[in-house]
Amino acid sequence: MQLKTDGLVIREYSVGENDRVITVLTRDYGIIRAFANGAKRLKSRSQSATQLLAYSSFVFYQGRDSYSVNEAKSKEIFFKLREDIEKLSLAQYFCELAGELGPEMDRADDYLKLILNTLHFLAKDSRPQLMLKAVLELRMMSLAGYMPDLTACDHCGNFEDAGMFFEKEKGLLVCCKCGSGGRAVTASVLAAMRHICYSDFVKLFNFTLSDEALECLSVLTEAYLKAHIQKNFKTLDFYKSLAQLKL
Ligand SMILES: [Zn+2]
Repeated sequence: MQLKTDGLVIREYSVGENDRVITVLTRDYGIIRAFANGAKRLKSRSQSATQLLAYSSFVFYQGRDSYSVNEAKSKEIFFKLREDIEKLSLAQYFCELAGELGPEMDRADDYLKLILNTLHFLAKDSRPQLMLKAVLELRMMSLAGYMPDLTACDHCGNFEDAGMFFEKEKGLLVCCKCGSGGRAVTASVLAAMRHICYSDFVKLFNFTLSDEALECLSVLTEAYLKAHIQKNFKTLDFYKSLAQLKL
């Protein structure tokens, strides 16, 4: 059986001299792991189309126990991300997250649209890196069923208070009159978190924050992610060591 779809290569590793196994976030079938036999040997377009961060159209052959790549043709290879080690490491972190949160054998249009847009902004330097990190973390968590409830204080319904606290384990807000269990979140950071969770996709990347507020936002979205996904992301550690962020 053949599966025809497009997708982003989010992981690749070599098997033997000429082969590689790739993980692809596909539009129609979610995450697919497939053998790309002879991909390193081929001088055809399928070599660049099956490398990490390539967005390509694929034809997969579905065997009894595994998939293999029959055809691959690249649409976008994000060349600018490969030239810059810092951007590349952040892009690899986004790919790792997609591999962790993306669906299997289910449509993944929203995940693909989110990560492709994030990578475009990262490649073009048209949004701050910490903003892209926070948007991808929180929006992808939301897509995967971990959307926090940021509407109001969970206890008293207070919508906007000077002092709000975010409880990362429960994914909800508590105002300073009702408790102080979580991390303090300023009004501008809270507005950004609400925007990332609730805005239409077309407006998702349209907000601005000061550098200081972006750092707070990034710390919060990452803490929320790590409270729910019990995993150490090596790509993120590497990115931080390069960016020398005090996070
Ligand atoms: Zn309250």
